[in-house]
Amino acid sequence: MNIYSKYFSKYKFPFLSAVFCVASEAICDLLTPTLMSNIINMGIGQGQISKVYYWGALMLMVTFFGACFAVARNILASRVSQRMGADLRYDLFEKIIYFSEQSVDKIESGSLITRMTNDTAQVTLFVNGIMRIFMKAPITCVGSIVLASLLNFRLSLIIYSIVAVVAILIIISMKLSYPRYSMLQKAMDKVNSVVQEYLIGVRLVKAFGTYEQESDKFEDANSNLMQKGISAQMIITLISPLMTLAVGIGTIVVIYAGSRLFVINLANPGDITAFTVYMAQILMSLIMITNIFNTFVRTKASTARIKEVFDCEGDFAGGGEIKEIKGDIEFENVTFAYPSGSGVPAVKDLSFSVKSGESLAIIGPTGSGKSTIAWLLLRFYDVNRGRILIDGNDIRDLSIDSVRRNIAIVPQNPMLFSGTVAENIRWGNKNATDEMVQQAAEMAQADFIGRMQDGFESFLGSAGVNISGGQKQRISIARGILKNSPVLILDDATSALDAITEAKVRDNLIDKTRKQTVIIITQRCGTAMFADRILVMDNGEKAGFGTHDQLLRDCEVYRDIYKTQIEGSREV
Ligand code: ADP
Ligand code: MG
Repeated sequence: MNIYSKYFSKYKFPFLSAVFCVASEAICDLLTPTLMSNIINMGIGQGQISKVYYWGALMLMVTFFGACFAVARNILASRVSQRMGADLRYDLFEKIIYFSEQSVDKIESGSLITRMTNDTAQVTLFVNGIMRIFMKAPITCVGSIVLASLLNFRLSLIIYSIVAVVAILIIISMKLSYPRYSMLQKAMDKVNSVVQEYLIGVRLVKAFGTYEQESDKFEDANSNLMQKGISAQMIITLISPLMTLAVGIGTIVVIYAGSRLFVINLANPGDITAFTVYMAQILMSLIMITNIFNTFVRTKASTARIKEVFDCEGDFAGGGEIKEIKGDIEFENVTFAYPSGSGVPAVKDLSFSVKSGESLAIIGPTGSGKSTIAWLLLRFYDVNRGRILIDGNDIRDLSIDSVRRNIAIVPQNPMLFSGTVAENIRWGNKNATDEMVQQAAEMAQADFIGRMQDGFESFLGSAGVNISGGQKQRISIARGILKNSPVLILDDATSALDAITEAKVRDNLIDKTRKQTVIIITQRCGTAMFADRILVMDNGEKAGFGTHDQLLRDCEVYRDIYKTQIEGSREV
């Protein structure tokens, strides 16, 4: 639980105040039965009405103070637990923002959401519970036993045996419920994931009409959650009536034994009445203790899940700051396999270099490792072997922040956010003027923006649902251009454009007057051939590197691609 020590020290004072209130309240509660026994034994039993008033007034006062303490601890408990829950969620979110790509692959987003909402709520509930009843239950329980023993030792032997039985029941219930609660939370993750996947693929589901499959999938996850819920609840459902039964039997035995002892003058009516009240208090506190343990068990499961998030690797692993780079890039014998993959390297022993201001095209079939090169360059993952150098510096010696500041990427799947077109382009550089935004859009051949109803102020729905794939790509390219960084990577970013538009975009990007290192990942020879250098990838390995003419002469893979794409299309 050491992940909470930070919060505990932050809220130490209100926390301890609450504990003090609860303890005082428990003492007030404890005194009541003894005071009552005095009213009966000294007042009513001996017919002295003044004693009844005296002890009665005392009892009223004690009850009043008890109520005041109860209100105070409740206020403190809800404020502190809610604040701590908010702190915890904030820290988790902060952690998730800086997740390394490896961590993103590790925990599903559905599960991250359950952890941020459900698991933190569980912790909040536990903290609230501790502050309200944590001290009260043990004090009431132990206090009742002690005071009852003082009142009448013989009768209290019954209490001891009942408490022993109940303690065993509590231990059994804890042992049984922990694994069940862990499974319950996993089942909850699954429900979230199913809903999330559906929402991401909603168009596809509609297009394929696979509603039934989706609802079956949900139904499975949902009924699994229900069963796990029932199984976890079942334990309490069985244990808590057993406890009530044990205490009920105890109370009957106390009254019976008490009356026998009364006959031989070893107990008086006041004691017996007080005993039944103590028994009730013991029952209450035992139920509270089981509740605490139950919440504790659930919280332990939640804590393990929250801790897993905190233990995930973050992104900003340090490294030197670099302000301005030129854009020389070199891969030296780079080998890399995805940590979540099968272990087969996505890139094998790869070496190539590109100088500042040059353009490099990377061509190759799907799955040949082209995008992986881009992610490695952005340090989304670190290489397993070899080195990647920017301006001669190993990128592992540079802070991730400074690497990414200097590289703009236009990813394979354009990511747009709900907002205006201009806002989406400005994502690349939030200080850009309107002219700069327009210029970037022009370079990306995004002239369709002018024809939209509100031009650059047109609103894009979430993920850009209201524009076409090619339009999305051009907005995404404009964003990359606007960033105006020394290195620009386009990962298959023109795949949805027609050949003429693509050629114009390409010419704008490979323009020698823009001193930028441009890496164009593509599957089209017609695009690659205009770059200064071409890297041909095949199955994670370098199949060729050089200019278009060199490759046509020396590289078989490239020749094949060229033939099928250029000459093949001519024959048709
Ligand atoms: P390309 O961009 O050339 O189509 P990629 O670089 O995306 O190819 O993928 C190269 C290989 O790495 C593929 O075999 C792919 O299955 C694998 N791969 C890509 N991304 C991941 C990932 N996040 N986790 C595991 N394996 C991956
Ligand atoms: Mg790719």
